[in-house]
Amino acid sequence: MISESRASLFEGAVNALPFSVLAVDGAATIVYGNDAWRRSATALQVRLPDTGIGHAYIPVLDSVLSVKPSDREQVERGLADVLAQRVLAFEHETPVWLRGVRRWFRVVITGAAGQSGALIQHLETTETHRQLEARVDALAHFKAVFETAIDGIVIFTDDLRFVNGNPAVERMLGRPQDELYDRRLTNVLNAEQAENVRAQHAELLRTGSQRGIFSVTRPDGSVIDLEYVARANFVPGRHVAQLRDITAARQMEGQLRQAQKLQAIGQLAGGIAHDFNNLLTVVVGHADYLLDDVSRLSDDARESMQEILRASHRGADMVRKLTAFSRQERLRLEPVQLESLVLEVTSLLRRLVPETVAVLYSAAPDVPAALVDAAAVQQILFNLATNARDAMPSHGGALRFEVQSHPDHVTLTVSDTGLGMSEETRARIFEPFFTTKAVGEGTGLGMSMVYGLMEQMHGQILVASRPGEGTQVTMHFPLVRQTREDGTARDANDAGTPRKTADTTGEDVLLVEDDDAIRALATRILQRGGYQVTEAGDGDVAARCLHDRKISGATPFALVVSDVVMPNGGGARVFDALNENALPTRLLWVTGYAGDETGDWRMRAPSDAPVLQKPWTATQLLTAVRSAIDADRVATSASS
Ligand code: ADP
Ligand code: MG
Repeated sequence: MISESRASLFEGAVNALPFSVLAVDGAATIVYGNDAWRRSATALQVRLPDTGIGHAYIPVLDSVLSVKPSDREQVERGLADVLAQRVLAFEHETPVWLRGVRRWFRVVITGAAGQSGALIQHLETTETHRQLEARVDALAHFKAVFETAIDGIVIFTDDLRFVNGNPAVERMLGRPQDELYDRRLTNVLNAEQAENVRAQHAELLRTGSQRGIFSVTRPDGSVIDLEYVARANFVPGRHVAQLRDITAARQMEGQLRQAQKLQAIGQLAGGIAHDFNNLLTVVVGHADYLLDDVSRLSDDARESMQEILRASHRGADMVRKLTAFSRQERLRLEPVQLESLVLEVTSLLRRLVPETVAVLYSAAPDVPAALVDAAAVQQILFNLATNARDAMPSHGGALRFEVQSHPDHVTLTVSDTGLGMSEETRARIFEPFFTTKAVGEGTGLGMSMVYGLMEQMHGQILVASRPGEGTQVTMHFPLVRQTREDGTARDANDAGTPRKTADTTGEDVLLVEDDDAIRALATRILQRGGYQVTEAGDGDVAARCLHDRKISGATPFALVVSDVVMPNGGGARVFDALNENALPTRLLWVTGYAGDETGDWRMRAPSDAPVLQKPWTATQLLTAVRSAIDADRVATSASS
């Protein structure tokens, strides 16, 4: 009785289990299935009578679900082992496909000691597997993000030990994971950097989140700036920081500031240069005027006057450098074979440097023409060579010029084996008046002039240098892109208009100049030279004079001597007025914005008339005026 009621108690309990329980006999034939089995057999549409009871276990399974052959085989073998009592129990977890849906089951087969047959349980583990898969998936996502991030991600402990870092961190710190693992992050920093990081870390632990900047010196000696955002205790005792390399951005910021500063200085310098040039013209003109007449001065006074002139010329030289820097110089860009230009200059520069310095030159074959102003390049080479010479005192060295060809530009490199310079110096060399040389030895204008000229030629200049390791200046020049179109529109004066040929003296000259002192001086000199002078203070006044002359029917001016840059219509206004009135008058431009001693830097004036540089001397003014009028006469007679 007792055993019977126990048996039904057990059966009731087994039937109440939420998973399938089957009993098989020694031949693996199903002899019993609990309620859960019966339910699932119905749901699975086991097409065998009595939900498979009385049939062999494995074929029953085969009839309703598909299992990987290897899994099926393992279960079959496990069952055989248990039935043969080779093992007490067997367990296997397998995915099964039930009408196309994958589910997971654990099959547990247990034998009863000393009895034949076995108990088989089917425990569904699909949910656990799904959760596991979701976890694996999420991890894979994080891993992908972690590993491909441009920003560095680093996980560390309370005492700043490295736990994990992505490849970007390895790149930033210049060290592989293995080298970092479990090390204190402060160990890869120098003392000052470490101190800074420790302080920020303490703050992070206190506040829970922190952002800031710190620097790292990498094993190769380079220093980078890292910006970070950190969060403390994302799990207790673990902190995470995202790092961004802002070195390049910071450098660019510095360069931008530098460029803005240079631009501001350029404007200032340009303004000063303009006014100063006019002053110099007056000084030089008057000195010249006095010197011109021997009777006017004692020998003593003559000498002083000559000194005044010499000093003024030095001043003019400085102004010329300043105007070059402030981009007020107009260059004439033309296709130039740099290698032949450099070769030419090199032999001249040979004399500039002492015997102990070797001057070397090399050029790639077939370098295409660059679009430059030849005189400007010569000036640049001269300035660079002067600096190189100063950097190689006494003990000799080498000054090297190199021309190289690139797909879209030509480079010209000037290097020396001199003292080199510190980073602070290198960053400032283009500033006007920046010099490290003794008073009287350096003006600090050489490199600023080079900079200005390179800008105007749309070139680029890079300076590499280290103390004791010499200096390398590399310039990129643009190539000639297309054939230059020729400005064929000629001066209207050359149109062969009949004109009255004036006598060599007494010719009418219209003088256009906005600076009163210069205009007065020029008037005086021209009048003394026998010309009749009409004065105009700007382009508009000049235009009115020309127009009035025309309608009055009087003889046209023989020459207009005009400044180029003026308020109220500059040289262009004068040029237009001549054209509008179809006057045969010739032009002579006067400008302070160009020229060096060799006189072959021409500014781009509104026409190709001759140009006289400021500051001029009385003789230069008279000569220029004479030859402008005479050149015209030659041209006129030649064309008629
Ligand atoms: P200056 O030669 O009158 O000092 P620059 O504008 O030509 O003015 O040069 C500015 C500064 O740049 C120099 O005083 C020097 O410190 C540095 N410098 C320029 N070129 C070189 C060079 N080749 N080697 C070392 N230092 C240089
Ligand atoms: Mg110099």
